[in-house]
Amino acid sequence: MKDVIVIGLGAMGSMTAWQAAAAGASVAGVEQFTVGHSRGSSHGGSRIYRQILFEGKEYVPLARRSLDLVMDLERRSGRPLFTRSGGLVIGTADGPLIRDTLASAAAGEVEYEWLEPGELRRRYPQHAAFDDDVAVYEPGAGVLRPEACIAAAVAAAERAGAEIRTGSPVEELRVADGHVEVVTGGETIRAARAVLATGAWGLDLLPGFSLPLRTQRSCLSWFRAATDPAEYGPARFPRSSGRAARWTDGASPTSTARASRSASAARPASAGWTGRRTTGTTPPPRTSRPSRTSAAGRSPA
Ligand SMILES: Cc1cc2nc3c(=O)[nH]c(=O)nc-3n(C[C@H](O)[C@H](O)[C@H](O)COP(=O)(O)OP(=O)(O)OC[C@H]3O[C@@H](n4cnc5c(N)ncnc54)[C@H](O)[C@@H]3O)c2cc1C
Repeated sequence: MKDVIVIGLGAMGSMTAWQAAAAGASVAGVEQFTVGHSRGSSHGGSRIYRQILFEGKEYVPLARRSLDLVMDLERRSGRPLFTRSGGLVIGTADGPLIRDTLASAAAGEVEYEWLEPGELRRRYPQHAAFDDDVAVYEPGAGVLRPEACIAAAVAAAERAGAEIRTGSPVEELRVADGHVEVVTGGETIRAARAVLATGAWGLDLLPGFSLPLRTQRSCLSWFRAATDPAEYGPARFPRSSGRAARWTDGASPTSTARASRSASAARPASAGWTGRRTTGTTPPPRTSRPSRTSAAGRSPA
């Protein structure tokens, strides 16, 4: 009998299996496809990493700890898993996105810089910013390679003694007398505990467990740079988030993307840093909302 069986070896399951095995538990990890396959949520070449989490400041310590673990994994695997590129959150100074970003940065004591509209345009001309756009720059943000992270975590789990099975869809999960039973390929694996890391397949193994969840397909897209690709590389172009209002106040994503490309093509790269550093402090409150006079050259969020 195992201590833990982890069902699903995407981003969540692979890291869980690694950490449980590293903590000394006897672990089985079961994946229906292959390690790092393209059919789950963790596929593709890149994922944003940031510690400023406008989704909720309570996530900041978790994000900080997760980067420590990824860097540990990078050292163990000898493969590049994380590239620091810095990160930008762009929006109006009095809008909810920037407000929540600053609250998260302050609560988590995350280092950041405040960029006024002119400074945002000077430093990052690749973005066709609105006249009233400000930005919060997070120097510690960057990009993770999810498939490589999963492969490295599974390898680390195996080195720590985990038994990994791929091509093994779990057909049934039963709670028995003080333990769980997992049926895969006609075999039953017993464990003290099961971790369900099945992502979008989440409730398949829990019939009778009802949650108002809906599975939705979500795709990654990459764009070819119209100008020098180095302008969009990690040294010059931080990972970015912007306000969704750009897509709802008249510009469709398609026209937005087109406008952004032509705007970037027409603009030269700016040189150097001219920013005023206000690390860890909140910018002065705005008394009135700046006018939005230029709607041309919008970029997608
Ligand atoms: C397009 C896109 C962009 C994203 N961008 C970001 C980003 O920039 N930054 C960020 O932090 N997050 C981002 N996310 C979210 C992040 O990628 C996901 O939260 C994360 O990958 C989820 O991992 P997971 O392990 O829960 O799911 P998955 O990777 O889907 O893993 C679930 C695994 O369970 C397996 N499984 C399911 N059922 C069974 C079964 N019965 N038996 C055996 N195995 C089973 C599946 O095959 C799969 O491998 C993005 C997600 C998407 C889709």
